[in-house]
Amino acid sequence: MKCLWGRTTLLICASLTLLRPSPTATAQDQISHHGWRGERIVATQSFSEGGATIQVDFAAGDLDLSQADLIAWIHASAHSVATFYGRFPVSRARVVIDPVPGDSDSIHGTTWGGVGGFPAVTRIRLGQHVTKDALKDDWVMTHEFVHSALPDLPDDQHWMEEGLATYVEPIARAATGRLTESRVWAEFLHEMHNGEPEHGDRGLNETQTWGRTYWGGAMFCLMADVSIRRQTNDRKGLQDALRAVVESGGGIDKDWPLSRVLQIGDRATGTTVLTEMYAKWSEKPVPVDLPALFKELGVAAAPNNGVTLDPKAPLAAIRDSIAPSRALAVN
Ligand SMILES: [Zn+2]
Repeated sequence: MKCLWGRTTLLICASLTLLRPSPTATAQDQISHHGWRGERIVATQSFSEGGATIQVDFAAGDLDLSQADLIAWIHASAHSVATFYGRFPVSRARVVIDPVPGDSDSIHGTTWGGVGGFPAVTRIRLGQHVTKDALKDDWVMTHEFVHSALPDLPDDQHWMEEGLATYVEPIARAATGRLTESRVWAEFLHEMHNGEPEHGDRGLNETQTWGRTYWGGAMFCLMADVSIRRQTNDRKGLQDALRAVVESGGGIDKDWPLSRVLQIGDRATGTTVLTEMYAKWSEKPVPVDLPALFKELGVAAAPNNGVTLDPKAPLAAIRDSIAPSRALAVN
């Protein structure tokens, strides 16, 4: 099961929300997730995206949003992920929309592999009064679909699952024009430090805190992406490695060892970046000089949690390759 916590709060795969439940409430929510399959489905719609069929089931309960609004949101999220990976990561996916009565701002997601004949199943607990604007800014649905693009890993490698989803999600949304390049870098600049090892932390496999799981994993991905691009003169990047994993059938319904995933990725880029970085980062705390990295990338802080992007920075071309400033071709 992916997403024990949210990316930016201590909620279960929660969206940005003003309400943060106590740790006790979080634990109770985790338990209640196991019982969702018996819910009464009142409507079903399907659509095709990136070679996949995506079935959306609406569970009983009131929502302010129309089913058409929700399908448009899920489709846009699937489209971003299919664009990033070159196809939707699995052949079939199911999304269950489960209304939360009275709630106005929760969008919580959880994704499982290989349930009921579907390679990927995502349950979204959606507040009754969530608005269309909230869906427009939402990251959760895209994050959940990214989880479908990696085999199911053991608990001590959970950081790889969440880190990858945290890193890929904004880039995928930018790829279809749902997020600007500046917003991608603003988020990385202002949040990535949460992934740095704190005093007493060990390797990523042995430090299962929120910061290390989500942003430590994302920092691994950013460093891997930059390293691959430096070594290949920007001809290859982490995206090529991840696409190769999907092309090899490595979706969430598979139970592969991570070493196989990393080897496929390294072969695709002609480097050993992923295997070598994993050997170090999984076992030991590896601090990163993020201020120096962002300076090289030409990303500087601006007011209101924004950024300025320097076109003349030493790694400006690599920055543009990671999060292109224009929407990619769509098919
Ligand atoms: Zn997640």
